[in-house]
Amino acid sequence: ASQSIFNWSPETPSHLFYQTGGRRPFIARAEGVYIWDHQGRRFLDGSSGAMVSNIGHGNTRVLDAMRAQMNTTTFGYRLHFENEPAERLASALSSLSPKGLDRVFFASGGSEAVESCIKLARQYAIAKGETKRTQVISRFPSYHGSTFGALAVTGYGPLNDPFAPMIREMPKIPAPTAYLDRDNLSDEARGHRYADMLRDKIEEIGAENALAFIMEPIGGASTGALVAPDSYYQRVRDICDDYGVLLIYDEVMTGVGRTGTFLAAEHWNQSPDIIALSKGLGAGYIPLGAMIARRDIVEAVVASGGFMHGYTYAGNPLACAAGLAVIREIFDADLMTNTARIGALLKSRLEGLMAEFPFIGDVRGKGLLLAFEIVGNRETMAPLPKEQNAFAKLVEYAYEEQLIVYSRRTRGGYEGDHFLVCPPMVTDETHVDEIIDKLTKSLR
Ligand code: PMP
Repeated sequence: ASQSIFNWSPETPSHLFYQTGGRRPFIARAEGVYIWDHQGRRFLDGSSGAMVSNIGHGNTRVLDAMRAQMNTTTFGYRLHFENEPAERLASALSSLSPKGLDRVFFASGGSEAVESCIKLARQYAIAKGETKRTQVISRFPSYHGSTFGALAVTGYGPLNDPFAPMIREMPKIPAPTAYLDRDNLSDEARGHRYADMLRDKIEEIGAENALAFIMEPIGGASTGALVAPDSYYQRVRDICDDYGVLLIYDEVMTGVGRTGTFLAAEHWNQSPDIIALSKGLGAGYIPLGAMIARRDIVEAVVASGGFMHGYTYAGNPLACAAGLAVIREIFDADLMTNTARIGALLKSRLEGLMAEFPFIGDVRGKGLLLAFEIVGNRETMAPLPKEQNAFAKLVEYAYEEQLIVYSRRTRGGYEGDHFLVCPPMVTDETHVDEIIDKLTKSLR
């Protein structure tokens, strides 16, 4: 019987679910910024998977740390045993977070981390006797995950609509899409205008019902590396403080060095109340997520009877040893400095493409969280018609050039084709040349 259970060859029809794009080549091995398929073709990973493999593939120091951990133990159930890697990783994350945020809760992915943030906020409100505060305001477009809670705060029609009604419809405000605005406002005024939409929304639903505001400090898959005007960030913080609304930063994509600082919040000196991390923390080596929260929030929840939330595999020693080794690598190899430097170079080279390709409407982002957008008209920023399928086609053309890029057709609440160019933080000048060369061919 076991013979037939394990019978498999590459010709066996797949039993997996496929989303769009059909069956891809099999991944055979990967090292640094490159991935080889089963036929020996070499791809440049221009999107780090889905902005995950931040420190590059096949890092021997991380793999060695994981092997060393495997030689002792890989799992001890959280309610039965503490484990040292989890303590060490929580300690490291606390020292890398804004002052006062020094309580860490582990998860195995981004959606799980976001769920944790929402549930912690709820329990905190209850602990304070503010039981009516249940609504989490978010933005559209936004992406916070695919579990029902994280989906309820996600603002992206194609993902929300099939599941309507959500567990609860959450109030949303527009994400700042200042680059689309054709008015004469200063950048500062524009930032304030978008932030003030939060104030309006809180007033509309009533502050007594407003629990939290969740935002990606820089939009990821949702808006394509959209950065808000600088004035937006502090204004949002002030509004949350005015109304006693918790500020949650979803740094699942932006965190762990991707933008050139450990947290994107650092670019604006921001101190949110709760932070979600994932992707770059496990960096493709292991599923890992984390929530980092203000100590007093956690203490209030613990004092009121404990956080009624948890995941079986969360905080296991193998995952935490991997996460710790990833962070160590980022510092030992000075990868954040490289990210800022190479990110600036790659961004200017992408901007350089605008001369040859009038359909590139915008280049944006920070560090190595970069994107460009394809439009039908650069003056009006009108998108190409959906039927042209630009977002899927360019990815296919790049695939033929053995370059991986990540695309979505949404921006600022409008349809639009954007492409994330987010290679690993170990990218160097020659890789930038290769990316631009392959991208140029694909765009032509
Ligand atoms: N939040 C953000 C900002 C993300 O980009 C993602 C993943 N694209 C998630 C949450 C969900 O993470 P996961 O897919 O690991 O559940």
